[in-house]
Amino acid sequence: MSFDSLDLHKSILKAVKQQGYQQPSPIQEQAIPVVLKGHDLMAAAQTGTGKTAGFTLPILHRLQQGKPARANQVRALILTPTRELAAQIQDNIQQYGKHLSLRSHAVFGGVKINPQMMRLRKGTDILVATPGRLLDLHNQNAVRFDQLEVLVLDEADRMLDMGFIHDMKRILKLLPAKRQTLMFSATFSNDVRKLAKQFLQQPKEISVTPKDTAATTVAQTIHTVDKANKAKLLTFLIKEHKWNQVLVFVRTKHGADKLVKHLIAAKIRTAAIHGNKSQSARTKALTGFKSGSLQVLVATDIAARGIDINELPQVVNFDLPHVPEDYVHRIGRTGRAGLSGDAVSLVSADETKQLRDIERLIGKAITRVEVEGYEADHVVPISSAKPAKPGTRKPKKKKVDAPQGRSRTKKNAKKKTQTRNSQSNSNNRKRKPAPTDGAGRRRRSDTKKVRAA
Ligand code: ADP
Ligand code: MG
Repeated sequence: MSFDSLDLHKSILKAVKQQGYQQPSPIQEQAIPVVLKGHDLMAAAQTGTGKTAGFTLPILHRLQQGKPARANQVRALILTPTRELAAQIQDNIQQYGKHLSLRSHAVFGGVKINPQMMRLRKGTDILVATPGRLLDLHNQNAVRFDQLEVLVLDEADRMLDMGFIHDMKRILKLLPAKRQTLMFSATFSNDVRKLAKQFLQQPKEISVTPKDTAATTVAQTIHTVDKANKAKLLTFLIKEHKWNQVLVFVRTKHGADKLVKHLIAAKIRTAAIHGNKSQSARTKALTGFKSGSLQVLVATDIAARGIDINELPQVVNFDLPHVPEDYVHRIGRTGRAGLSGDAVSLVSADETKQLRDIERLIGKAITRVEVEGYEADHVVPISSAKPAKPGTRKPKKKKVDAPQGRSRTKKNAKKKTQTRNSQSNSNNRKRKPAPTDGAGRRRRSDTKKVRAA
């Protein structure tokens, strides 16, 4: 299928061609006609498969037909969980709409509100916003919704979870009941689907399979390792594999800052992005990382959703997220737009439950590779990785297999791939040979020394 066969305005098609897009992705092919027809939509498709254009292009098409926005009015509202994602979507809108004369803005917290209020005065055809700032702007009469035609929740499952649902409900009350509502994400749990339907009218549902996964172009590996050795192992991996651009996810802001210190001490150009940083520091870190002046960006889940870094080759989970869906979104920062990507997770014994939940969500066991010198003393049991079927109870915890990591002696320790069963590991990839000390000898393990710490 070509973009030309989608009924989009020729100025939009021209901009899409200039972006270098040859043909619509599966989600675009399916979603664009549905949105053009005016239906409500709940659309699920893997990370990095072009969902943004899936809603933006038909919205641009729709809005170029009607009347422009009056003072302080908004015609289409796109809500996102993070400031960085709002800015990114606004950039996309500018690109896709560059031959149209529609006005679009992004508004989010952490920066002065006054300039945003000024910009909204003339009316906005497409407004991209984070919920908190949008409510602030509304309270100050800077934005009105009488002319609102379309609402989009990007990362919809996140927008409807505990952190955002109160703001979301408040915003929904302000919007006209007669509108088109669109929800997009790579993951939708059954609970979220049910909740989402309260806000949709006779929605169409699109689900590009496989569901609840990152793009299939992301190779996934686990290194089992003791918690105390994670920072050293990460430093080793960065140097060993010469990773020049690696996004490292951690669970906490404090953990992020601590890891940054460790990596900087190892002379690795690193910065962090998390919720305690000023917006200017966040923007600077992300820009520096995108441009290549930073080698490592250490991030909390603030960067897990939606962020599109051109050709990012490597993601590392320094620790596993508590919410399994976040794993899918984190690793989905690589392997985008059909490119291949690599995601490595450092997993310690205390993360057994998170790992089991993740493997259950994605429906497979992730390939395990031990790195010589960093083998785990505390074993991470192999989990059953049967996908949870909708409506079924959580399967009982299976008896774990013999702890494979422990059965090996240091003497014959080789990098060894542990898999529960080979079918579930079709993406089993050979890793680089075990590290040497430069003279061809195997590196002596120094992990014993730090284990007690
Ligand atoms: P998602 O929201 O599904 O995670 P994005 O909308 O952020 O994905 O798009 C991921 C990347 O794919 C972006 O860099 C975007 O420019 C690119 N992209 C989108 N649509 C196409 C297409 N039809 N052909 C090639 N690249 C595309
Ligand atoms: Mg997206």
